[in-house]
Amino acid sequence: MIETALPAVGAAAFLGASARWNWWRPVVTDGLMIPTYHKVGDYPEGSRLKALWVTAEEFRWQMEYLVRHGFTTLLFRELEEIRQGKRKMPAKPALVTFDDGYANNYEIAYPIMKEVGVKGNIFLVYETMEQHNAWHNPDTEPWVRMLTWAQVKEMQDSGVVDFGSHTMRHRNLAALPLDEVRWELFESRERLKKQLGQDIPCFAYPYGAGAYKDDVRALAQEAYPFDFAFKQGVMKWPWKPEHGPIKRLYIRGDDNRFDFHLHMTRGKSRF
Ligand SMILES: [Zn+2]
Repeated sequence: MIETALPAVGAAAFLGASARWNWWRPVVTDGLMIPTYHKVGDYPEGSRLKALWVTAEEFRWQMEYLVRHGFTTLLFRELEEIRQGKRKMPAKPALVTFDDGYANNYEIAYPIMKEVGVKGNIFLVYETMEQHNAWHNPDTEPWVRMLTWAQVKEMQDSGVVDFGSHTMRHRNLAALPLDEVRWELFESRERLKKQLGQDIPCFAYPYGAGAYKDDVRALAQEAYPFDFAFKQGVMKWPWKPEHGPIKRLYIRGDDNRFDFHLHMTRGKSRF
């Protein structure tokens, strides 16, 4: 199975890798796999966060992997309908998610998803829309363009991409006074709701921060049915808030195809 799924990985490489990778972990069959991306494309000169960039070529291979392996990809609004009992959870579900809302998600990832037949979801930072990733220090991570509302609308209308909240300003919620945390959570929900004309059931914590802080998480839970962490793992289904913030699979730019296979079957690629 492993050999047929991974023609690019030779036997020698496999043996060499076996001490490091989690191939020996049992295959996970009862959860939702949530591959998580940031930027798709070639990383710019001077980037120190190269791992956040996945090339178009690898992204396409990964989307094709999902189709080839029989995953049914969901939109956030479909996940919410399943929670409400209006729709059934498919047999092999996956949620493709993107954090932050970069323009390259529209320019590079969206055409690939549309062509391959995979649905995705983007967590937007409301106040950075149509601008740049101002929360990064441009000396270490060059600024890039964020999505425009016109691009968001086009993707929403296509039925290929749905949207969630990633706060107003991408601040560290674990380090903010609670009234500011509340504003980041509720204001972004209301603004997105108005802008997109639909409910916003999903939220992701910037930097994953605050997900495991009781008072912050209580507010996130008050605002959204689903709160997504940045911790590695599989979302059990049925999921309940008391199971903790939803774990995801962080797909790194330097992951190889065997890593991706392990993410999608074991919920973990490396130690
Ligand atoms: Zn983020």
